[in-house]
Amino acid sequence: MQRVFSGIQPSGIPTLGNYLGALRNWVKLQDDHECIWCVVDLHAITVWQEPEALRRQSLEMTAVLLACGVDPKRHILFLQSAVRAHAQLAWMFNCVARLGWLNRMTQFKDKAGKDRENASSGLYVYPNLMAADIHAYHATRVPVGDDQRQHLELANDIAQKFNHDYGVEFFPAIEPLIMGPAARVMSLRDGTKKMSKSDPSDQSRINLNDDSDTIALKVRRAKTDPLPLPADVSELADRPEARNLVGIFAALAETDHAAVLKDYGGQGFGTFKTALADLLVERLSPIAAETRRLLDDEAALLQVLASGAERAEAIANPIVREAERLVGFVNVR
Ligand code: ATP
Ligand code: MG
Repeated sequence: MQRVFSGIQPSGIPTLGNYLGALRNWVKLQDDHECIWCVVDLHAITVWQEPEALRRQSLEMTAVLLACGVDPKRHILFLQSAVRAHAQLAWMFNCVARLGWLNRMTQFKDKAGKDRENASSGLYVYPNLMAADIHAYHATRVPVGDDQRQHLELANDIAQKFNHDYGVEFFPAIEPLIMGPAARVMSLRDGTKKMSKSDPSDQSRINLNDDSDTIALKVRRAKTDPLPLPADVSELADRPEARNLVGIFAALAETDHAAVLKDYGGQGFGTFKTALADLLVERLSPIAAETRRLLDDEAALLQVLASGAERAEAIANPIVREAERLVGFVNVR
């Protein structure tokens, strides 16, 4: 059975983008993979997080993952900061990855914005930590949204260079799993920008805990263009907002863009937006209700995370210890 690793930052309430690009696929993979799911709080602090908010968001994220169907009994669910191996291997990878490689990463450019001098150095080496997250478990498959494709290529480059430098075949190649018609869900306000939980505008995204009225309002206000929906998929190419909404509908209805346009092509956005809001409410409201229920029992959430950390360490510690030996660190214990 192949080992899967994936993570999500507790940097806010998870969005529809996280759900369609990642979480929904996580749940499907659990049937025939050995899965390791991580709430990556070390990644979250690469941009400023209020400590109290970070604590709350870490537990909220855990509850949302469980509500989406992550199974902590058959698989592993844990907090990244609870397993030291991530930071230890990331340091070794900081010394393997080349500056030129990191300079090409578009996420750093997007997140650092114009004031690059003032970005944290953690944000810059974020992809090295992400490579360590995966390689600390010798995971071979990584389900992510399309925005992480570049980081996964870097994770493979790091593994290859480590193996080459130390003359071993230690870290395996990883295969990105980028699935479905909504692998990159775009902002509701700007069809050329990715939907993100850390975007300052709440109107840019659907949060997994939005109530029905909020969802309906956000969909109604979502940016569109003045033309009716086209009959043919090719005509969506230069209409980013229309393409995004049709993609979201297709993903939720488990179909494709063409099938959605068969029903709604030629019509204005009104009927389509109402149907889209209804579909969103139908799919998301059970998750929101279950999340609220789980958050009422904090002790149970902590118990899940403690057991997850213990089982994660049992896999990662020996792998990272072996990496240390290969690098030439003396084992004194
Ligand atoms: P942040 O803005 O803090 O970076 P985020 O919304 O980008 O938050 P992450 O925690 O960075 O979320 O990513 C978690 C997972 O969700 C990753 O697999 C990522 O590829 C996926 N993902 C994030 N945004 C989208 C999106 N708009 N469409 C599809 N998948 C997404
Ligand atoms: Mg992100």
